[in-house]
Amino acid sequence: MELFELGIKQAQEGLAKGEFSSVELTQAIIDRYHAKNGEIGAYLTFDEEGALALARENPKAVPIAIKDLINVKGQPCTCASKILKGYVSPYDATVIKNLKANGFIPAGRVNMDEFAMGSSTENSGLGVTKNPYDLTRVPGGSSGGSAAAVGGNLCIAALGTDTGGSIRQPASFCNCVGVKPSYGRVSRFGVTAFASSLDQVGPMTKSVEDAAILLKALAGHDEMDGTTPKDPVSDYAKALEGASMKGVKLGLAKEYLEVAGMDPEVKRLTDEAIRKCEAAGAELVEVSLPHTEYAMAVYYIIAPAEASANLARFDGVRYGHRSEQAVDVYSLYTKSRAEGFGPEVKRRIIMGTYVLSSGYYDAYYGKAQKVRTLIKRDFDVAFEKVDALVTPCAPTPAFKFGANQDPLTMYLNDLYTIPSALAGVCASSVPAGFTKDTNLPVGVQFICGGFEEEKLLKVSKAFEEVSK
Ligand code: GLN
Repeated sequence: MELFELGIKQAQEGLAKGEFSSVELTQAIIDRYHAKNGEIGAYLTFDEEGALALARENPKAVPIAIKDLINVKGQPCTCASKILKGYVSPYDATVIKNLKANGFIPAGRVNMDEFAMGSSTENSGLGVTKNPYDLTRVPGGSSGGSAAAVGGNLCIAALGTDTGGSIRQPASFCNCVGVKPSYGRVSRFGVTAFASSLDQVGPMTKSVEDAAILLKALAGHDEMDGTTPKDPVSDYAKALEGASMKGVKLGLAKEYLEVAGMDPEVKRLTDEAIRKCEAAGAELVEVSLPHTEYAMAVYYIIAPAEASANLARFDGVRYGHRSEQAVDVYSLYTKSRAEGFGPEVKRRIIMGTYVLSSGYYDAYYGKAQKVRTLIKRDFDVAFEKVDALVTPCAPTPAFKFGANQDPLTMYLNDLYTIPSALAGVCASSVPAGFTKDTNLPVGVQFICGGFEEEKLLKVSKAFEEVSK
């Protein structure tokens, strides 16, 4: 095996045995980056010297690719937006501090949809990322660079973020494991905000065990993020020992499984996954989440509303792009924003400003918050009866570039991942096999209750075993 093919666990073992050093491992990733990134476009930038310096200081550390919205001191943080071109972070995000404290080093910055808005990485303002399994197709998004880097062996593992599906859907498209932690499990301090009541950082890896190791390093209380409770973080990787499907109550929800427009190969692979779980001893239980049909509408009110507020800070005054056409302070704001933001980001800001405006606030934003509560209650009720839900991760495998030109069809990609994001519970995407004719990877999604990451990872691991 080449060093760049290793996952976290294998890399840690090799480092512990002295088979190679962190410098050699990091150099192998850098060489792979030079050989392959021209074709795949997973990375936007790679501070090679910085990564190697950290590897020299920490001879047992494992390099991790970082989504370009997480601040790493001294490195660019563009969120794949022209508005932040040239911006250099003055501090480390808490997740980066946690990585460094736990034997990992940030190595390379990976592409994404601009400000994490999108499902294909086609909204990046700075570059194209291709699916390593089929270069004519998208890697998914918004963490498309992370997924392409993991799936194409351009990194050992990566960090992504998930607001409505951005870890899980690209993981499904690129044959990776992706975990969206429960809201509050991982600190958001230093992670550029898209929709603050939804955003979570999570691992994108080559195995469930790797996801468990990386999540343990990331998670925990942070004084700088008031939504992170003091609940202890268990040793997720240790909890995986002996993980099994035996006696696991797996919920099947018709709102997820009987959906018009689901790709027949996604349906076949999901059905097969369910049968494998049953054969391995899981008990299948039918459940209903009746408010699922409203999730998309609720998300496209709440997420843009929060985004419009969060993105107000990019005004050309304090940092980032500053228009040269400006003649006064007002035109400095408007021209800098008009030149710096791409079309999808503008669309979200306009939608968000509208739903928050006086006269519409109660009708849209207030109502969406109430329906969000109903969606959350659906999950509470379901988890009284089952340990985990199993669903498709995305309605289709990776699609061709330009195939979803209409924003609405693009939004529909997140049909299965948005409700759990709104509910704040945890969910994973685990590889489930390949489509017949096109040979594209497809992931299956497991969802567990809030702060049930240990259970989620165990079920995901048990599925990984039975799907081998
Ligand atoms: N695709 C969804 C959106 O565009 C979700 C993105 C995300 O999770 N960051 O909003």
